Amino acid sequence: MKTIIEPFRIKMVEPIRLTTIEERQAILRAAHFNPFLIPAEHVLIDLLTDSGTAAMSSEQWAGMLRGDESYAGAKSWYRLEETIQRITGMPHVLPTHQGRASERILFELLGGPGKVVPNNNHFDTTRANVEHSGAEAVELVIDAGKDPQNRHPFKGNLDIGKLERLIGEVGAARIPVVMVTVTNNSGGGQPVSLENLRAVRAVCDRHGLPFFLDACRFAENACFIKMREPGQQDHSVRDIVREMFDLADGATISAKKDGLVNIGGLLLMRDDALATRANNLLILTEGFITYGGLAGRDLEAMAQGFEEVLDEHYLEYRLRSVAYLGEGLQRAGVRIIEPPGGHAIYIDAAHFCEHLPVDQFPGQALLCELYRSGGIRAVEIGSVMFGHTDPATGTTIHPPMELVRLAIPRRVYTQSHIDYVIEAIAEIFPRRRAIRGLRITQAPPVLRHFTAQFAEV
Ligand SMILES: *Cc1c(COP(=O)(O)O)cnc(C)c1O
Repeated sequence: MKTIIEPFRIKMVEPIRLTTIEERQAILRAAHFNPFLIPAEHVLIDLLTDSGTAAMSSEQWAGMLRGDESYAGAKSWYRLEETIQRITGMPHVLPTHQGRASERILFELLGGPGKVVPNNNHFDTTRANVEHSGAEAVELVIDAGKDPQNRHPFKGNLDIGKLERLIGEVGAARIPVVMVTVTNNSGGGQPVSLENLRAVRAVCDRHGLPFFLDACRFAENACFIKMREPGQQDHSVRDIVREMFDLADGATISAKKDGLVNIGGLLLMRDDALATRANNLLILTEGFITYGGLAGRDLEAMAQGFEEVLDEHYLEYRLRSVAYLGEGLQRAGVRIIEPPGGHAIYIDAAHFCEHLPVDQFPGQALLCELYRSGGIRAVEIGSVMFGHTDPATGTTIHPPMELVRLAIPRRVYTQSHIDYVIEAIAEIFPRRRAIRGLRITQAPPVLRHFTAQFAEV
């Protein structure tokens, strides 16, 4: 087997700044031990998110110059609409500035008090938009999806038995839509099988329920299906993508992931009446229906990005490079969520920082050490992000896992960057007991991970 190489060469470079450990120590202090507050120019390898951080291709940049900036009916819009209709088969394509705008429109139309929206796992903006409408967000991922060491090939699958039970309990009338997130971002970027999507479709058909995909990483999910699902090896990713969308009545998409662009989103649907109502809401807050809050050049870059993401050499490289990081960390003894997902590696920070109690934020402490010793920025998904005080008892409730997510921007870093990340973390691991715990000195009441301030214990 030959090395799976980056299927592109570099035409334009953006220098990244090397800093000394002393400089980073001072920067970390000034940022109150919260990497969200570090200016990006002081970060060497930025693995904070894979959202909107992709490198665009020469064809996308060429499209940026061709972008038609007409208010209505721009050529760039028709190109995007045709591309998305051809890839997904969805007749109604609504452009939005990013995924959460699509969610806001969808749940304003379908949500509301008393409604219940099931999903394998809701992404945080999806949950927030469901709840903002007054509806309840319910998570129905299979049990294997909650076990970090379980190597189930489709850990993102929705539990069909749990879905049937939910429908039995609350009644189909209260469920306006069943959602499945591909890949399951909140569950570790784990894929959903075609078999599972077909089973969800069958349940929805039996109860007359609409089925929508949260399809931000539809191409990565389709590539996993091709690699792992029996009988799919000979099918093209393009055909698998089409089969996934054919099973759904609509989709919300953030183009900042598999759209390979820095900004953009889509709301797709089949139902004409629902599309008319969605278009009216789109005009209210996003813009006219042929640009949805985006510039013509953004539409052009999106149209090209959605084509490029279906290149199987790209997808094979993409999934391989994420797995490569995971394997390197495991060789160094670091425990991660298995198997590696499509866009990120999740380190078990409770294991890495065994010596720290959860109220000293092991994930945040590890984040700080990654930055201090390696200039690497990641994100905590643990007690800082999800810990909260129980209003009844006044005690702090901690989430089941303390994770540090290393998200890989698309087409941005080379294998030597990833090797550097592995080396930096492998160097920290044997001396991990010296990592100091943190305490919160200041935090807002909600979404505290973005702006909370810390001090060393
Ligand atoms: C990123 C993301 C969203 C929200 O998209 P934004 O473009 O950030 O608004 C929704 N769902 C999933 C699964 C995502 O990963």
